[in-house]
Amino acid sequence: MIRSFARSEAHVGMLEKLGLRSYMCVPLEVRGDVLGTITFLSAESKRRYEPDDLSLAEALSYRASLAIDNSRLYGEAQEAIRDRDEFLSIASHELKTPITTLQIQVQGILRRIQNVGETAAANGLAERMVAPERQIQRLTHLIDDLLDISRITAGRLDLHIEEVDFAAVVRDVSARLEETLARSGCALTVRAAGVEIGQWDRLRLDQVVTNLLSNAVKYGSGRPIEVSLTGDPEKVRLEVKDQGIGIEPENQARIFERFERAVSGHHYGGLGLGLWIVRQIVDGLDGRLAVESEPGKGSVFSVEIPRARRLVPDDLSGTSRESGGVLAS
Ligand code: ADP
Repeated sequence: MIRSFARSEAHVGMLEKLGLRSYMCVPLEVRGDVLGTITFLSAESKRRYEPDDLSLAEALSYRASLAIDNSRLYGEAQEAIRDRDEFLSIASHELKTPITTLQIQVQGILRRIQNVGETAAANGLAERMVAPERQIQRLTHLIDDLLDISRITAGRLDLHIEEVDFAAVVRDVSARLEETLARSGCALTVRAAGVEIGQWDRLRLDQVVTNLLSNAVKYGSGRPIEVSLTGDPEKVRLEVKDQGIGIEPENQARIFERFERAVSGHHYGGLGLGLWIVRQIVDGLDGRLAVESEPGKGSVFSVEIPRARRLVPDDLSGTSRESGGVLAS
């Protein structure tokens, strides 16, 4: 028997020296594929394997096969995620270039139309440019979200911390979304008078307010929206309240994850990235993001952000997270 599987005379000699008495060989089988075998050998003990030993060996090989299969599947899943993220990063950069060119050209045309003055032809042309301009804005927004997701996933969402007036940001965003609000029929009440100063990233705060307010419009069923900003010496609190479709309790945690949506794509367009990005920014500023919602009644998204980030001592250099200003996800 040894001769039947030995590879050479020397191999036969070695195997004979082992003094083999008995052996079992069981396949490592997974979903119809044989990954390999496990061989059990007995020598000095002079023990002979019995049918019970074979059953035990088979049970062991079954469990080992499952473990190997799981680790392989896990590896493949990780690789697929890496491929997806790399694709997202390349695709969003590629998409950004033509859309930026298009945007510049449309803005140029609109400027030239304005220069012509208030003629009927110019007004007609300007009206016809509204739809393309809106679609370009929409595309830009989607591509920016895709770019953000690849940056954040790669741990490269830089926060540029400076002194910012959060109340001014809220008022700016509300003014910018005036046209969108008017189109949706949602009346907006803003309670953000005065100043709310803190150490934040102006553009990222703008993005937080824009995303939450845009969602309130999108899912707000044309009903009134309220935005309020309040503060105490340590922190500020932003609330965006709508009276729209609301969110089922079982979906309320999931919607903050990447690509997660609680509505059908047929009724509401979107990639399911906005809230994930908001959460990453709020986390990066040591804040908290929460939702309270009742289906059919509406939602309140709230963000609480400290006026300055906590100083976390760095064991190695003694510097703080403040100095790095980089959000690693
Ligand atoms: P998107 O709007 O592109 O789907 P978001 O990440 O902004 O992506 O939102 C994720 C999901 O959370 C949405 O698909 C929707 O189901 C739900 N959602 C967000 N904001 C609201 C809101 N104000 N009212 C009801 N549902 C909301």
